[in-house]
Amino acid sequence: MKALKELIRPNIWSLKPYSSARDEYKGVTASVFLDANENPYNTPNNRYPDPLQTELKTLVSRVKNINSNKIFFGNGSDEAIDILYRTFCIPGKDNAVAIDPTYGMYEVCADINDVEYRKVLLDENFQFKASDLLAKADDNTKLIFLCSPNNPTGNNLCHKEIETVLDSFQGIVVIDEAYIDFSTEVSFTTMLDKYPNMVVLQTFSKAWGCAGIRLGMAFASEEIISVFNKVKYPYNVNHLTQTEAINMIGKEYQIKEWVKTLLAERARLIEKFGELGCCEHIYPTDANFFLAKVTDAKKIYDYLVNNGIIVRNRTNVTLCHNCLRVTIGSRPENDALIEALKKYN
Ligand SMILES: *Cc1c(COP(=O)(O)O)cnc(C)c1O
Repeated sequence: MKALKELIRPNIWSLKPYSSARDEYKGVTASVFLDANENPYNTPNNRYPDPLQTELKTLVSRVKNINSNKIFFGNGSDEAIDILYRTFCIPGKDNAVAIDPTYGMYEVCADINDVEYRKVLLDENFQFKASDLLAKADDNTKLIFLCSPNNPTGNNLCHKEIETVLDSFQGIVVIDEAYIDFSTEVSFTTMLDKYPNMVVLQTFSKAWGCAGIRLGMAFASEEIISVFNKVKYPYNVNHLTQTEAINMIGKEYQIKEWVKTLLAERARLIEKFGELGCCEHIYPTDANFFLAKVTDAKKIYDYLVNNGIIVRNRTNVTLCHNCLRVTIGSRPENDALIEALKKYN
């Protein structure tokens, strides 16, 4: 890996961050706060939230077995993706490399930040070769994006190939593990100490059932996280979100139950979906959704919409012609899908 100073944009490296009232005062004994121009009424929403989410970090640190200073929280993982570009990529000069197809936000964020986005086509099993990705990279490649389990395909990427990329690439390797809780693979967070050039993304939006509160996580070296903390909005995770997330950590048993239920439902739904006349193939999945090749994705999508059931039509995505992406719902929701499709012809 190149030195961080070479990878980070010079203006970010030398940035003197905004210092908020809550940054400057860090003691615990004060009871009169006249420092932040807040309204004294309407507790607790009158107060600015903790800019570094200390309490939540302590709890997530325990759950994930990762030191607090290696954790960044954002307004969804989408903020973490954006902050990666803003930290590492000089607009109009640097570039990012990613597998294709994959999560659409990597490319949208690249476009917003005026960063060239280079795609490497997956093979027919939705896998990649490290050598193909590395061949697309040049001296201006700062980021490589890998999503495992991948969206919209659902499969885990081959860990051996990912490790080759981590071993060989001189820039930052981002591994998006939004669906890791549904996967049989171990998280790359267990290798944070081995790979200082790795950033692992996870989220409260999927297994944790909290898409509405907007909380994403990035795990990386202490050095990288401290730069993210300079670049982010001072109060990027609001008080309501921090409180609700702390609440959810206390319900870890519930999340494990949800995952167990959804994995059982996934097996049941895949079996039934595979028996439908309109289903041609279901791709292997390690996530809370599956990708299915059907006889006519557009017609079936429209038919389902007319029946009040929404799936994702991915037919225009690379390698996904005539494919629908189906999220695993509750048992009654999954049954409604199957019953509707049995009547489709
Ligand atoms: C759903 C998803 C996310 C989550 O994004 P949030 O902003 O945290 O809701 C991240 N990456 C991938 C690949 C996803 O599918």
